[in-house]
Amino acid sequence: MTLIFIDMDNFKYIKDSSGYRAGDQLLIEVARRLLLVAGKDIVVSRLGSDEFVLVAENLSDAAISGFQTKLLESFRAPFDIQDHRFYVTCSAGVASYPKDGGCFDELLQNADNAMYQAKKLGKGELSRFSPEMKKLAVARIQLHNRLQDTKDHDAFSLDFQPQVDCRSGRLRGAEVLLRWNDAEMGQVPPDRFIPACEETGLIAPIGRWVLTHACRDLKRLRPPPDLDFVISINVSVVQLMQHGFEQEVLDILQHENIDPRQIELEITETQLMGVFEAGSQRLRTLMDAGLKIALDDFGTGYSSLTYLRRLPLDTLKLDKEFIRNLHREQNDRHLIGSIIQIAHDIGLEVVAEGVERPEQRTILDDAGCNWLQGYMIGRPMSAAALETFLKDWRGFV
Ligand code: C2E
Ligand code: CA
Ligand code: CA
Repeated sequence: MTLIFIDMDNFKYIKDSSGYRAGDQLLIEVARRLLLVAGKDIVVSRLGSDEFVLVAENLSDAAISGFQTKLLESFRAPFDIQDHRFYVTCSAGVASYPKDGGCFDELLQNADNAMYQAKKLGKGELSRFSPEMKKLAVARIQLHNRLQDTKDHDAFSLDFQPQVDCRSGRLRGAEVLLRWNDAEMGQVPPDRFIPACEETGLIAPIGRWVLTHACRDLKRLRPPPDLDFVISINVSVVQLMQHGFEQEVLDILQHENIDPRQIELEITETQLMGVFEAGSQRLRTLMDAGLKIALDDFGTGYSSLTYLRRLPLDTLKLDKEFIRNLHREQNDRHLIGSIIQIAHDIGLEVVAEGVERPEQRTILDDAGCNWLQGYMIGRPMSAAALETFLKDWRGFV
């Protein structure tokens, strides 16, 4: 027997932003498509909420791959429900009897673990269970417990990484990067603990803490007055879709006496896809209030130009994966050139991140890139170190 655990990506936001009616209707349509994909040999059941469990006779690896392809294809077309258009993807985890579990509960648990790993790979992925995942699940629980224990925010701190003009080196501002130094586990990289904060809902209070403290650091930094110094803050879509997020941001800025034009919010492309409509409305409100909006990690996800035009954006951040081989790969160079051209055509500025080498800067400059961020200019550093950096930085000479 093979068990496939399927969970919709972003269903909660769809439901929160469009209402239960639309959510219910969407679930019905999703179930219809799953039934078509499953065919007559696979039993489809709904576990609850947006979770489905499919049961089949033992499926070969080839059959599972085939299933994944069909699943992806069937969800490619959007769902039109009431007045909304939803783009939905599902993540799937697979466990087979007897190698992945001796009873139903164990199989379900392990298919769920595999599904969780699929989510980490991105949206619309499928993973097969492996014993390694069980270890990861245990580590995850430990991480959750440690985070819940972090009652005050003493264990958190902020780093800043400068951004400068690609040609002259004139300062633009800095990206704020959250750090967590846990008493038991030591420094935990954000790529590990941010997802855990999102799952536990802790991202809301932590996100407020980040914004508040970034504002305070900004005031203390007192960048040269002739600079329009911008602080870029990462916002997870879980925060963005929280009720009243826009107002909360504006309240914090007002309370901390910070001009909204000094703040940029970075939101990753892949996260935004599932909440496109409601998400863009919220970003629009913030943009109208003066904040800048940046699309983060561009180039890792769908990178659809249609989306790019329809989203309220000021800035496009080219992902570091894109920059890495720039000095070696002719093709990457052409691609970057075209992307920057298109970004400029629709009125966006471009920040390249992960710039480590002078050759990369030269190529980016030739391609018309506006701003740079990366080890070549400065590693993420404390607010105090940034203050020194601001004093000493002379630009490119
Ligand atoms: P990101 O937004 O893509 O941040 C850039 C990451 O690239 C940072 O990793 C930074 O240290 C790293 N980086 C910068 N320059 C270079 C370079 O030249 N070469 C290389 N190889 N890497 C470079 P970090 O600090 O580990 O952050 C990882 C991710 O955690 C961030 O990715 C962001 O998505 C998330 N994150 C960090 N702080 C926050 C936060 O306050 N809130 C939220 N929601 N997410 C955060
Ligand atoms: Ca970022
Ligand atoms: Ca990024």
